Parts: sequence; structure tokens; C-alpha cells
Amino acid sequence: MNLSERPAATMKLVGGRLFLDFNNTSGGRRRDPSHRKANSVIILGEKLNDYFDLLAWSRHVNLISEADLQTLIREGRRRESEASSVLERAIVLREAGYRICMAILGERGPEEADLEILNREITVARCHERLAAASDGYVWEWTSERGELDRMLWPVALSGAELLTAGDLTRIHACGGEDCGWLFEDSSRNRSRQWCTMQDCGNVAKVRRFRTRLRGTGKG
Ligand SMILES: [Zn+2]
Repeated sequence: MNLSERPAATMKLVGGRLFLDFNNTSGGRRRDPSHRKANSVIILGEKLNDYFDLLAWSRHVNLISEADLQTLIREGRRRESEASSVLERAIVLREAGYRICMAILGERGPEEADLEILNREITVARCHERLAAASDGYVWEWTSERGELDRMLWPVALSGAELLTAGDLTRIHACGGEDCGWLFEDSSRNRSRQWCTMQDCGNVAKVRRFRTRLRGTGKG
């Protein structure tokens, strides 16, 4: 099975942090007008459509080695229903993470249920951490056997925990592009980053501004 051509394996990584890059596997988001809840969104261009997409992304962001990938492909095929429940957990974690970030952007507290979802995954992750001696000190490493199907979720959950406890929350942004909503940490010095990338949403906005200006001068 070759996963390297899948959209999840080629998507741009612009979040500046693992947790946010994981969030952007949604593809794009549009506010759902038919829904009562203000933060309800429609997902456009989902990149995680099966467990193997999740593996493709995990390899893309270097969470697993090529050898791990081959093992997990084999195990994922063999333990099909376990693999689908890992995918389900991944999406639940991702969407909870998105809502927590949107709550931060809206200067609101998170929904209790969303924090609970993240906490559950953090607990799972921490169960797999162990301290090991390295040449110049000590490091955290994963206890796992290679075949643990959910192993990519552990660093993702811990990246979320780190973002929320040690990150600068005022630097979290959602791209302003139409049907985008990708999340990123703005690390620019003057905090001026508006777009996921200038080539994508930034460019569309520039073209739109240009057209509006032309119309204003009667040239459009
Ligand atoms: Zn964008």
C-alpha cells in the first residue's frame, strides 16, 4: 500500500505546532448556518477518511518512521475495527481541539466535554511515557510496542497540552480565508500573520482586493 500520494501525506504544514497541524487535516471549514450553535462548522475536504490517511499524515509529520509505517499498515489491515476506532478517536480529538482553540479566539472558556476529550487522550499518552537515560541526561520516550495503532495520537495530545499550558494563546489564529479556517500560531515579530499561507488564502485575498480596486477605478 503506497500512502505517499494521499492528500494527508502532502498537505502543507503551517500550524507551527503539531497540535495545530493535526487540526488542519480537516481540510477547510465553513460555518454551518443551519445550526443553532454559533461554533458549528461544516468540514470541507476532509483529509482523514480512513485509518491509512491517519498513517499517511503521521509519516508526513514524522511521528512514525518508515518501518513503523509498514508495521502499522499491516496491523491496521489485520485489526480493522480497532483501526477504525482509532480514526474515530482522532477525529473526536481534533474537533474538540478545534472548538477549544475557537473558544480561546472568542475569549470564552472551553466546553467541559471538549476539555474532557483532550484530558482523556492526554491520560492515554502519559501511560505510554517513560523516563530513559541518554548520553547527556534523561529523556522521555514512548514505551510502546511498534504495533500500537493509536501511537500517533499520544504526541498529538501532549502537543495540545503543551500549547494550552505553555504556549502563548494570544498567538493562536484561524486563517481568514474563505472556507479555510486553518489554525496556526503566529510567530511573526509584529503579529501580522493573517493567512495559512500567502500562496493560498493570502493570494486569493490579494486578487480580490485588486479586483475591488479596479472596479473602483472603472477598469474592472
Ligand atoms: Zn487559509
